[in-house]
Amino acid sequence: MSHKTHQEWLDLAQTLSVPQYAFIDGQQVKAESGATFTSINPATGKALTDVVSCDAADVNRAAAAALRSFEDRRWTGQPMAARKRIMQNIAEGLRTHAAELAVLDSLDMGKRVVDAFELDVPFSASLFDFYGEALDKLNGEAVAMDDGVHATITKEPLGVVGAVVPWNYPVDMAAWKLAPAIAAGNSVVLKPAEQSPLSAIRLAEIFADAGLPDGVVNVVPGFGETAGQAIGRHMDIDTLVFTGSTGVGKLFQRYAGESNMKQVWLECGGKSANIVFADAEDLQKAAESAAFDVFFNQGEVCSSHSRVLVQRGIHQEFVALLRDISERYQPGDPLDPASGMGAMVSAEHTDMVEGFIARARKEADLAAGGRRLKLGDSDCFIQPTVVDNVRPDSELGQNEVFGPVLAVIPFDTEEDAVRIANSTQFGLAASVWTSNISRAHRVASRLVAGTVSVNATDAFGAQTPFGGFKSSGYGRDLSLHALDKYQGLKTTWISY
Ligand code: NAP
Ligand code: MG
Repeated sequence: MSHKTHQEWLDLAQTLSVPQYAFIDGQQVKAESGATFTSINPATGKALTDVVSCDAADVNRAAAAALRSFEDRRWTGQPMAARKRIMQNIAEGLRTHAAELAVLDSLDMGKRVVDAFELDVPFSASLFDFYGEALDKLNGEAVAMDDGVHATITKEPLGVVGAVVPWNYPVDMAAWKLAPAIAAGNSVVLKPAEQSPLSAIRLAEIFADAGLPDGVVNVVPGFGETAGQAIGRHMDIDTLVFTGSTGVGKLFQRYAGESNMKQVWLECGGKSANIVFADAEDLQKAAESAAFDVFFNQGEVCSSHSRVLVQRGIHQEFVALLRDISERYQPGDPLDPASGMGAMVSAEHTDMVEGFIARARKEADLAAGGRRLKLGDSDCFIQPTVVDNVRPDSELGQNEVFGPVLAVIPFDTEEDAVRIANSTQFGLAASVWTSNISRAHRVASRLVAGTVSVNATDAFGAQTPFGGFKSSGYGRDLSLHALDKYQGLKTTWISY
């Protein structure tokens, strides 16, 4: 892995060609309306480029191309070895273009370029390997039946998948949906977030170069209310996979109910709890992990453990550790490897995060950070912030900030910790730090969360399912279980 300097990343950002077009049926296209929108770099406040803004007419074109590609079997009809090779080519294509994709995401939404380069893009690439390797192992079942009947259960692709994704991990969120969707034999219409459309357009070109047939993946940049809604209401889109806010997730349920009753799978927000017991083996490690998990990616992470529940006996010590460690996460130019964090995605989002901090300060204790910063021409930067003695039922104890703001909640007993951890509308993830193995099992079994990490914070990997309970959504990304969203069971009953 090459280690570029700040200057080398700046040079690459200068020379990069920035994608602008929708990608439909293997072609770069403009919107039928001719509309465009401006993509802004939040770290500088400057316009990057004007991007095609798709609406219902363009979604129609994309869905028709996807349906054609599905019905004529130009993808599913290929030998499995050929499809697997194309998935591997895609993975390789992502690796080859990792620096370029990383810069696009960094410029578009403010994340540290090195994180995109070293973590986001390689992880996305690994998913095309993982699902490519799985595609010839999706066996069905032969069923035990009465004499004279042979019955099988096979897993069938659904047809056209609509995928609508957020801006916090533009490459990853696209890859988490696309890799299993196409491995299972579907065609896709993908809408990236309006704040971060660039890398998704580039991905579509990489797919084409890798040999994926035209129409199998189509990308329609645009706004949620136009392009997103048109996907949600489209009569030829069979299933809808979404990552984003709980509020917009509910809209997709409505769109489905008011159109063709398409399946809707939702990965939504969270307010994950990180529980640190006084008997944790290594408090320093727990504090480093807690800080990383809320400051990485500017805290713009759905599974960010934005509540740390600390047992009373170690509370003061732990907050002191957090205060020290938070110093490492001071924001700076996202293209500078030395920056601890990048820029928040937009001025509006920065306003929102600032508002949360200002209200929390009136009723809890600011232990670190708390300020919005202006760096160069942009004021989309927030200090790594720790708020202590947060009431579990307060705004900061309940609501997702999607920013670098850690709420510290002291607790007394194990019983209290579990009750507080489970007391929000969300159930995405939770973590427990303890050296008592009975306690680890007891608490893990009672936490309502899609993933519980023990002596780790927010662990995940390609092999394990990711997703939530309660208002965090349903359906799982990653692992072989993600394929359930992209396949339907078919019974074939043969009398003989
Ligand atoms: P968002 O506002 O819900 O947007 C997500 C996507 O939905 C975007 O593509 C957006 O388009 C689109 N959209 C917005 N309004 C729509 C509408 N009326 N109809 C159809 N589509 C619409 O979420 P966000 O602010 O981008 O992302 C932050 C949220 O995502 C947080 O709540 C976070 O927890 C969640 N998230 C969850 C996970 C997970 O796996 N559970 C992962 C990452 C993020 P526009 O770009 O045009 O708004
Ligand atoms: Mg942008």
